[in-house]
Amino acid sequence: MKIAVIGTGYVGLVTGTCLAETGNDVICVDINASKIEKMQQGELPIYEPGLELLFHRNIQQGRIRFTMDLQSAVEHAEIIFMALPTPPGEDGAADLSYILGAAKDIAALLTGYKVIVNKSTVPVGTADKVKAVFESHTSIAVDVISNPEFLREGVAVEDFMKPDRVVIGTSSERAKKLMSELYAPYVRQGNPVIFMDERSAELTKYAANSFLATKITFMNEIANLCELVGADVDAVRKGIGTDERIGKRFLFPGIGYGGSCFPKDVQALVKSADEHEYNFEILKSVITVNEKQKVILADKLLQYYDNEISGKHFALWGLSFKPETDDIREAPALYLIETLLKNGASVSVFDPEGQENVKSIFNNRISYAENQYAALEGADALLIATEWSLFRNPDFEKMAELLKEKVIFDGRNLFELEKMTELGYYYNSIGRKLIA
Ligand code: NAD
Repeated sequence: MKIAVIGTGYVGLVTGTCLAETGNDVICVDINASKIEKMQQGELPIYEPGLELLFHRNIQQGRIRFTMDLQSAVEHAEIIFMALPTPPGEDGAADLSYILGAAKDIAALLTGYKVIVNKSTVPVGTADKVKAVFESHTSIAVDVISNPEFLREGVAVEDFMKPDRVVIGTSSERAKKLMSELYAPYVRQGNPVIFMDERSAELTKYAANSFLATKITFMNEIANLCELVGADVDAVRKGIGTDERIGKRFLFPGIGYGGSCFPKDVQALVKSADEHEYNFEILKSVITVNEKQKVILADKLLQYYDNEISGKHFALWGLSFKPETDDIREAPALYLIETLLKNGASVSVFDPEGQENVKSIFNNRISYAENQYAALEGADALLIATEWSLFRNPDFEKMAELLKEKVIFDGRNLFELEKMTELGYYYNSIGRKLIA
């Protein structure tokens, strides 16, 4: 099938590449010239495990191209995916200007019927708004459908190639048929393509992300309580996770959820509810609790030093909002760095993939280590903000030699308490006994 993907970020580029992988002919469009240039030269602009192989293979075999020329993409495609940003506006509602702007541009270039697929996360009613844009700019018929994306950064290729489910919101039989054909190779194992109306599909995405954010936040509160009552959150997690109704996943406590999706999507759903005069109380609490959780590691550190960290030097492992991605949007590590700097401390950071993105925010206000050990040199303590696998089993003896003091504040509970006791570290983690 002939496909266009508008927007080549984490969602668009994975979508385009994975659609090319099953034999479709894909043109990807972006307005970012340097991104397009990079991709035309065979360079991936993002880090996403497994993507590089598919990206090169499909470029070589001529199934995917990259351009800034929207017209050629619109002329080429029978199905046009929009994978555009929907950032929070000032009031927390999703900013639809990218989507509505692109719809207007596409409408002006139409020469025949197309299926316009919205892959971005958008509030209920957006498909209607996009349809209205088309209707006011062209007399050519289109179907505007909602096909929210559930991929997770870090395992995005796997999620796209073998999705748990595909959700498609449309009332058009023609669009339904095309989309069923397009997704058939990805659901061969029997996972469902769930058809529904546009509004339900739009809400499904927000409901999924808000539910997951709530689950994490609930567990963070249990962890905080564990610390006060002398319980161990790891034990509690195992104890409840084995109940099938609860499930084992998304029960690991930490320093709050971040990333480009959960914070903005929870906020946008609350805002949508407000607009319909519905007070979404649980989600309002989730937002408040998460804000508190983001500061919890900094609070522990400040408490340890009696609020006096001016002149101290800290090492920070982990910058990306989760492992296996270079995405640092809303990453808790950013808050930690700001707090340390604001209090007069200096920081040396290490992250396997997120370092370049962090440089564009903090420049030379912090130092960037070549590896995890180099970050520790002369540091008063180590802070851990992201659970990259390579941090899980470090050389503790080497660490002790490099650190000024054997002090670790771990926001991701990477190490066993027994081991830290044996090694004689001060070890402050989340929802577990303090090793001092
Ligand atoms: P992103 O910021 O990584 O990428 C968006 C891309 O769109 C950028 O490359 C930008 O240059 C481009 N762009 C902006 N305006 C354009 C235009 N007019 N024409 C062409 N390109 C344009 O965003 P993302 O993370 O891929 O997210 C896209 C959407 O998907 C958002 O609504 C997001 O909530 C949703 N989503 C994201 C994820 C995720 O894990 N990142 C998962 C599911 C859903």
